[in-house]
Amino acid sequence: MRHFPIFLALRDTRVVLSGGGDAALAKLRLLMKTEAALHVFSSLPAPEIEGWAAEGRLTLHRRPLSDGDLDGAALAYAADEDAETDARTATLARAAGVLVNIVDNLDDSAFITPAIVDRDPVTVAIGTEGTAPVLARAIKAHLEEHLPTATGPLARIASGFRKMAEALPHGRARRDFWRDWFFAAGPRAYAQGEDATQEALNDLLDAHLDRPARAGFVSFVGSGPGDPDLLTLKARRLLDEADVVLYDRLAPQPILELARREATMIEVGKTGFGPSTPQETINALLVEHAATGAQIVRLKGGDPTLFARLDEEIDTLAAHGIGYEIVPGITAASAAVAAIGQSLTKRGRNASVRLMTAHDTEGFADHDWRTLAAPDQVAAIYMGKRAARFLQGRLLMHGAAADTPVTVVVNASRGDQAVIASALATLSADLDDCPDGPALILYGLAPRDALPTLQSSGLTAVPSRQQEVS
Ligand code: SAH
Repeated sequence: MRHFPIFLALRDTRVVLSGGGDAALAKLRLLMKTEAALHVFSSLPAPEIEGWAAEGRLTLHRRPLSDGDLDGAALAYAADEDAETDARTATLARAAGVLVNIVDNLDDSAFITPAIVDRDPVTVAIGTEGTAPVLARAIKAHLEEHLPTATGPLARIASGFRKMAEALPHGRARRDFWRDWFFAAGPRAYAQGEDATQEALNDLLDAHLDRPARAGFVSFVGSGPGDPDLLTLKARRLLDEADVVLYDRLAPQPILELARREATMIEVGKTGFGPSTPQETINALLVEHAATGAQIVRLKGGDPTLFARLDEEIDTLAAHGIGYEIVPGITAASAAVAAIGQSLTKRGRNASVRLMTAHDTEGFADHDWRTLAAPDQVAAIYMGKRAARFLQGRLLMHGAAADTPVTVVVNASRGDQAVIASALATLSADLDDCPDGPALILYGLAPRDALPTLQSSGLTAVPSRQQEVS
C-alpha cells in the first residue's frame, strides 16, 4: 500500500489551491463539500470560481501564490496544469511543511485525492494508487448503485441515537440493532418520510431490548476452492457477521479479509501431511467460544462435507447442545473439472462419479480398485498428489488401461492454477515437478481439446455518472 487512506478533519483549516482552470474547478467542487477555509490563488480565475468567491464559499486571491500564503495550511493543491508553476507551488508548500498534491503528477505528490462516493456523513474513498482511474470510476458507479440514498440521513439520525443504543449490551446485540436499522427497519421507515424515522428508531430499540441474548452458534462454511468469486453469498454474509472465525492453514487471504476487523481470527492449521492442530483442540475451541454466545464461522476449504472431518466437530457440538448449520461450498472437484472444460458425468460414458481420497488418517486408503479399473470410469481424487504412485500401481494391477487419461489440476480456480495432462502409465513421473499447492487428480478425464479462451468474469465497467477522480 503506497498510499495510506485517512479521513482528515478540515473544519476551519486553511486549504490552499493554486490555479483557476479546469483542474482547479474539479478539485474545488470536491473541496467545497468540506468545511475547510479555501484559499484560491489565480490571476485568471474561471467565472465559476469568481461566483463561488462572491457567494463566500472560498476566498479568491487574484495573484500568483507566494511566500507566506501557505503558513498554517493543512493541504495545498498545485492545479495550474503547467509543470513549472506547479513545481513552484510544490516547492513553496514543502518549504512551509504543507502536504501538497500536484494534479496529474502522482510521483511528486505527497497525497492523492481518492474517488469518492458521498452519502454524507458516510463517505467511501476509492484509491488505485493512480494506476487505474477507470477502475476507480467503475467501482464508484457500482457503489453508488448499491448504497441507497437514505444511507446518509439514516446515519445522521443514528449518530444522535448512539447514547440511547448503549442500553443494549456491547458487541453482538448492539451490532444486530444497527444492522437492523441500516438495512431493514431504517430504509423502511425512511420511505414513509423523514418524520417517521425517529419513532421507528425508538420502537426498534424497544424490540431489541426485549430480545433474549443469542446463544452461541457454529456455521460450518465452505469457502470454495480459493477464488473469492466462488464463495456463496451466504458465506460472505456469515463471514461479515462472525464474532469468531476458525480457519485452516492455506485459507486464501482475500477470503479471510471478508471477516470484520474486530472478529477473532484463529488459524487451526491442518494440512494433509504437514503439522496439524489436533482435532481435539479444534473441538475444544468451538465449545469454548460458543459458550460465550459467539457466532462462529468454521471455515473449511471447498465443501465442508467432503474430506473435512466435519462429523467429529458436529458430534462435539451435539454433545454440548450447541446449534450449528452447514453452508455448502464449491468443492475442488467442481473447480478442477471446470478448469479442463469437461463434465464429471457424461451420457454414454459414465453415469456415476467417485469422489475419493487416496489418503486418510491411517495412511493410503483402500478402495474397490477392480471396479474403478474398468473402462470409462471417472473419479475425482482428493489429497492424491503424494499417493499418485500408489494409485497408479493399484489401478494398473487391477487391469486399468495404461493410456487411461489422468489430469491433475493444481490450485484450481486460483491465479496460479496449473493443469497437468497425463496418463495412468506416466502419472507419478509426470508429477515429479508438479507445482506446489493443493492438487486434485481427475482419473479418466483429459482436458477438452479445444478449450474456450479462458475469460474471467470480472467487474463490469459501468460508465460513471459523475467524473470526480484523482
Ligand atoms: N473440503 C475440500 C477438500 C478438503 S481435502 C473440498 O471440498 O474441496 C483437501 C484436498 O482437496 C487437497 O489435498 C486437494 O486434493 C483438494 N483441493 C482443495 N482445494 C483445491 C484446489 N484449489 N485445487 C485443487 N485441489 C484442491
